[in-house]
Amino acid sequence: MVNRIEPGTVWVGDEKIPASVILWAAGVAASPLGRKLGVPIDRAGRVLVHPDLTIPGHPEVFVIGDLAALNDENGKLLPGVAPVAIQQGDWVADTIARDLENQPRRNFRYHDKGSLATIGRAAAVAQFGKFELSGYFAWLAWLFIHILFLIGFRNRLMVMIQWAWSYLTYERGARLITGSDELPGWTKEDSGATGASPVHPGADTNPLETAAVTITPPRH
Ligand SMILES: Cc1cc2nc3c(=O)[nH]c(=O)nc-3n(C[C@H](O)[C@H](O)[C@H](O)COP(=O)(O)OP(=O)(O)OC[C@H]3O[C@@H](n4cnc5c(N)ncnc54)[C@H](O)[C@@H]3O)c2cc1C
Repeated sequence: MVNRIEPGTVWVGDEKIPASVILWAAGVAASPLGRKLGVPIDRAGRVLVHPDLTIPGHPEVFVIGDLAALNDENGKLLPGVAPVAIQQGDWVADTIARDLENQPRRNFRYHDKGSLATIGRAAAVAQFGKFELSGYFAWLAWLFIHILFLIGFRNRLMVMIQWAWSYLTYERGARLITGSDELPGWTKEDSGATGASPVHPGADTNPLETAAVTITPPRH
């Protein structure tokens, strides 16, 4: 397990691995709150919920979204994405209303409406059930659907204006500042070419903590 990252070095236990470019792809951990519940959790700290999203011994306590670990009907873990969290939120509200009317509990079922991801300046991939789309039209679908799901006309308008501005001005949407030009293999040109402003973390500074991440779709 990686336990430390320093400029130019990744530590795996006591093993030192020299590295000039370090990409972190281990995902994110669940909130530590889950561990405090005293119920079974998985390796990522997600709470193993019942099919009705409650925890063992407490039918009145629901855990939903990224903190919940629940398999779909094919035994596959539901992904940690916003649609799952939104549907679970709606479902719990509905369950509480049903409880008040003394109606029986039902199991949560996720309705996968598909997946969308941008992969370029005017390119995306989309999958809706068996239907798959890629390229410009998938990108337009991505754009339209994301704007559509925003709440309120003002929000939609503001986001559209911001995205249009970013698109037309080639503004960078994702920027990671993860190292310094003093790292082995890095030059000042590298820093300029990537648009990243080099930071110079102190000896005690964890570069992971100093990394700045801004995600503003639709970008490349
Ligand atoms: C970089 C990144 C990109 C992503 N991109 C996408 C994407 O493109 N599409 C997609 O569908 N999903 C995406 N996701 C996943 C998506 O953001 C999550 O699945 C979704 O936000 C989960 O919702 P949630 O309500 O469970 O948790 P969150 O949205 O994380 O909300 C939990 C909230 O609880 C608060 N909180 C935590 N502990 C406590 C506490 N003890 N007391 C009080 N408040 C607390 C947190 O501050 C937070 O505000 C992305 C996630 C990341 C990290």
